[in-house]
Amino acid sequence: MTGFMPVIYPDELVYSWFCRYYVHSGYPTNRMALEDILYNRHNNPSKEFLGHLNPEMEQVIKNMYQIDELILEHTMFPQYARFIECANKKDALYRLGNDFCDAHHLFSILPRNEGDQYLKYCPVCASEDRKQYGETYWHRNHQIRNMNVCTRHECRLAKSTILAKSEQSFTLDPAETVVQDAMVKYDVNSLEIEFASYMEEIFETPMNFENDTAINDILYYGMERTKYMSSTGRTRNTKMLADDIQKYYREIGLNEIASVYQIQRTLSGNRSDFSVVCQIAFYLGISIDNLLHPSLSEELILKREGNRGSKEETPEGWNQYDEEMAPILEKVAHDIYYGNINDTGRPERVSERLIYKYAGLANHRLDNMPKCCRVLSKYKESYAQNWARRLVWAYKKVKADKVDKPVFWCDIRKISGVKKKNADIIIPLLDQYADKITTDAIKSLIEPENDTNLEEDN
Ligand SMILES: [Zn+2]
Repeated sequence: MTGFMPVIYPDELVYSWFCRYYVHSGYPTNRMALEDILYNRHNNPSKEFLGHLNPEMEQVIKNMYQIDELILEHTMFPQYARFIECANKKDALYRLGNDFCDAHHLFSILPRNEGDQYLKYCPVCASEDRKQYGETYWHRNHQIRNMNVCTRHECRLAKSTILAKSEQSFTLDPAETVVQDAMVKYDVNSLEIEFASYMEEIFETPMNFENDTAINDILYYGMERTKYMSSTGRTRNTKMLADDIQKYYREIGLNEIASVYQIQRTLSGNRSDFSVVCQIAFYLGISIDNLLHPSLSEELILKREGNRGSKEETPEGWNQYDEEMAPILEKVAHDIYYGNINDTGRPERVSERLIYKYAGLANHRLDNMPKCCRVLSKYKESYAQNWARRLVWAYKKVKADKVDKPVFWCDIRKISGVKKKNADIIIPLLDQYADKITTDAIKSLIEPENDTNLEEDN
């Protein structure tokens, strides 16, 4: 049975709307409301997107709004999809609205840093909402990553106690119940407000589904006539740019400043994260119009194409480049090794392919960079070693998630991606990465003769 569905407020998150549905319909428990909203309580519920709706609720919603409109105007879609290729953008919109696909499969959703762990709110907006609507709600703009201020009231956003992540425990927590009267803090500097407004406007501008100018091309032109690019456009110094950007945002006091390698990867066209693009573009003084509605002439794009081969910060000499890149590669390799590069957290093998991909380095450059190669050799491991390390990681993660419940092979196989047929080469390596109790537990799960776990090893 579906209850009473209120109208959605301006800039309200769909999640917030569902929270109010729960309250207004008078459900006795959160669980019962979720059962009426979602196809399955455990099937990708989401605070940032729609989640997987059940057919009855889907119909109720479709009678009120177009699903695309909800996704574009009431979910965090514009944050994640803003700068991806048009074809992927269209596909993502379609799959979120029609297949209720898990957003993690559609674009990169990076782990959150500390400042963005909880849903945020503006105390002044909350009291205005209460005056106008009789209740407050979770505003979407406030949840943009790195958004720390309310641009309307020029005050600091407050952090609630509600996790912004959807994965672990998903409950409907209405802002009206959670948001208390908080002290309004106006200790915001004008540059911080300017940057927040810039992000917000980019976030809110209707999405462009046709113009496929790559974001790194646009940023490239933003670098023209700056000290970061030679007058011919053949050489650019992204290391200097990245250092300056970091210094700049440290002064503004941003909670997650783009790292040197995120900046390099974005400029080399390997990534297009909203926050990183906004930071680079704002720093370079690229107008919102030029960023979102670029009209780069064909001549310019061809010139850029021509420079592509020699594009990456070709410095005076390899030695200097090697020197500069070594600490960056160290960080990238460390992140790959310990699983900080992806949002699953799975430790990966530091392969040359991943290094080129994540460091934004052109292929085969490492041949000329002895210092970088030495850094990488520290992280060298065989496939078997990596599998063993992944198993230990997966076992500990599942064990922590399941608390006192038993751990099965299928749990750890799923997240580790390790196959049983390799058990004989993995088992002897396990004790390099874990204590005896853990190793024994993993062995008992992976050993081929263990009949209780004979399932689906594909
Ligand atoms: Zn406000």
